[in-house]
Amino acid sequence: MKQKQQITTLMEILDTYYPKDVECYLHHSNTFELLVATILSAQCTDDRVNLVTPNLFKQFPTVNAFATAQLEDVENAIKSTGFYKNKAKNIIACAKRLMEVYGGEVPSEIEELVTLPGVGRKTANVVRGNIFKIPSIVVDTHVKRISIRWGITLYEDPVQIEKDLMTKLPKEHWIRYNTQVIAHGRAICTARNPKCETCMFLTVCPHGLTRLREKLPDEAQEALQKGHMY
Ligand code: SF4
Repeated sequence: MKQKQQITTLMEILDTYYPKDVECYLHHSNTFELLVATILSAQCTDDRVNLVTPNLFKQFPTVNAFATAQLEDVENAIKSTGFYKNKAKNIIACAKRLMEVYGGEVPSEIEELVTLPGVGRKTANVVRGNIFKIPSIVVDTHVKRISIRWGITLYEDPVQIEKDLMTKLPKEHWIRYNTQVIAHGRAICTARNPKCETCMFLTVCPHGLTRLREKLPDEAQEALQKGHMY
């Protein structure tokens, strides 16, 4: 099957099995809160972040409140998300830059977003897609793993994967690709034990087909290689 045709089928199956308008998994009520929640989500589960942010945003309700916060207070509030010292330093520095350069508003341009401390392309694209509805592809661990398993990218580096996918996926699918693939990665195509036997993508997934073939008895594998039906 040609890759273009495979991608069309993959997108159709995603839209059939996963909602097209899934909300971002990170709870937030404004752009800055989503920015902070995404910074906190590095090396941490979304569920854990969602447990921490309600109190955090109550304690620091505005960009300025973060900009003028004591480092130790932010550290204590986000401790359970891991790497909290760096994250706290970045969040405060990010809030300061937003106050000083952008009047307390979060910019929408990727070139500006990535100048904020703690904000890389992934965080920038989460904000651009979810808040500003600008077509963008968020490459997280699920998107990386599954895109490689589907064979639609050969890259390992998230930035290269993002750029590669932008040339291959239909633009109207960019924003929801992340949320749909995360849902699939959590339910079926898990990192350690993907449930290929019951997966709706099996017929268009090279990795899944290879895994199942390897489980067949030797005679069956031989027959398949020769093109015989088993
Ligand atoms: S067939 Fe297996 S590897 Fe492929 S998407 Fe499904 S679960 Fe993942």
